Amino acid sequence: MRANLSRMASQSTTAYEIRFSALKNGFHYYDYALDQAFFMQFPESLITQAFINVRLCLERKTREMVLDFRFGGSIQGVCDRCLTELDHPVEGDTRLLVKIEDEPIENTDQIWYVSTTAWSFQLAEYLYESASLLLPLRFVCRADQQLACDERLSSWMSHATNSIAYTPEVVEQTDPRWEKLKQLKIN
Ligand SMILES: [Zn+2]
Repeated sequence: MRANLSRMASQSTTAYEIRFSALKNGFHYYDYALDQAFFMQFPESLITQAFINVRLCLERKTREMVLDFRFGGSIQGVCDRCLTELDHPVEGDTRLLVKIEDEPIENTDQIWYVSTTAWSFQLAEYLYESASLLLPLRFVCRADQQLACDERLSSWMSHATNSIAYTPEVVEQTDPRWEKLKQLKIN
């Protein structure tokens, strides 16, 4: 989960920038809304339609910052079984520690290092990757919608079965080789 801004459109990055050099010690709060436009900035994103609110509580200390994120909202997808469009509710919490060092070392997923001479860091990539972890492994209708899901699935299945059964008949009637084969079998 390392910041990689090269994949992002540059005009939108300022919205997710934390200018920490101007922050006094203590708590600071930020709100973000991750929607379709946000996820479109990441071409590899598995999330396309979503609306996720993020509340960030940042505690500024002299040599470090503790960032607590709360994610809540929904991701849209289609049911794996019946192909109905679904809103999948999501929520989650993450914590990021940002340490201010004279000689920063390589970031990890949970700890970032920024230089004492730096004045800001960028959260867009972090928000994207954290939201991506909320994506369910499977989209399926909820338990209370399961009956309708089963009905849609079985109606879809019976259509599929009918069309498969119909195809060989057409081949038999139109391809003269089938007639010859039939005669061979009879003889
Ligand atoms: Zn379904």
